[in-house]
Amino acid sequence: KGYEDSGTGYDFLKKAIAGYYKKFGVSLELDEIRVNDGAKSDCGNIVDIFGDDNIVLITDPAYPVYVDSNKMNGRTIIYADSNEENGFAAMPDPAVHADLIYLCSPNNPTGSAYTRDQLKEWIDYAKKNQAIIIFDAAYEAFITDPDVPHSIYEIDGAKDCAIEMCSLSKTAGFTGMRCGYTIVPQALHVIASDGTDVSIAQIWGRRQGSKFNGVSYPVQCAAAAVFTDEGLKQIHKNIAYYQENAAIIAKTMDELGIQYTGGKNSPYIWLKCPNQMSSWEFFDYLLHQIAVVGTPGEGFGKNGEGWFRLTAFGDRDKTIEAMQRMKQLLQK
Ligand SMILES: *Cc1c(COP(=O)(O)O)cnc(C)c1O
Repeated sequence: KGYEDSGTGYDFLKKAIAGYYKKFGVSLELDEIRVNDGAKSDCGNIVDIFGDDNIVLITDPAYPVYVDSNKMNGRTIIYADSNEENGFAAMPDPAVHADLIYLCSPNNPTGSAYTRDQLKEWIDYAKKNQAIIIFDAAYEAFITDPDVPHSIYEIDGAKDCAIEMCSLSKTAGFTGMRCGYTIVPQALHVIASDGTDVSIAQIWGRRQGSKFNGVSYPVQCAAAAVFTDEGLKQIHKNIAYYQENAAIIAKTMDELGIQYTGGKNSPYIWLKCPNQMSSWEFFDYLLHQIAVVGTPGEGFGKNGEGWFRLTAFGDRDKTIEAMQRMKQLLQK
């Protein structure tokens, strides 16, 4: 195989992705789907097409790529607090203006997920501000709650204000294979600072055509296999295994009386560090006392201080063992 014609993915994979979206009632044209080497790349690269004077709204805590990629361009970032009071699901403040909005649902690190009504509120806010939502759906395959949408396009009005990014990394263990996709609807247009009407799909295509040469053919074949009936059956079995790990961790937190979000619709359990420990104190405590590691919440933003992320992406035996050790350590 030589260079791919478009560099945006082979039609056989785009058709497979479009077929997958149909399951959520979302219909996509093939030219709205851009195959890439993972969601992290596009979460970071998307800022290339926006002026540095755009105001960026990021929920805090957040996946660090959103903050860092905008800081590298010197953009102003405002934060929407996700905290204990709002169940780690930040909602828009009508008094604050933003041009670009990053949302991640189900969320990394907090495991919280927006309902249809909550996403509708964000879409209404985006429209009022003529803003664009960058919706990171990397964990959609973990959703079990029917009230939580898999795609932002399940909500009316999203196609003219949102870009969606997803990845096979968490869905199908593609972390090393590298394949994801970004949806840029044809309806998504903005008015540039010089007054011209700009198609985001067109300008993003231009950016990708200049800086990206597509995903290798064998990896795209593997990605297409994920979306076949047999592929979906196999990955769902795998996801169910991780969901069971999440349930084991969540049950342990319930037994210990530790407050948490996630574990449902998400492979992450986001817990409040016991005994008023800071994120890093709790990290050291678990590491030294019981040789268990997790991720200190503080690394995801200021609202993460005092919180801690445990992952369900582990072996069953080790998950059970880690939870037994935590119970022995923390039981009153
Ligand atoms: C893992 C992850 C991604 C994407 O990872 P890739 O391997 O680059 O596809 C994107 N967003 C969030 C929130 C993630 O946790």
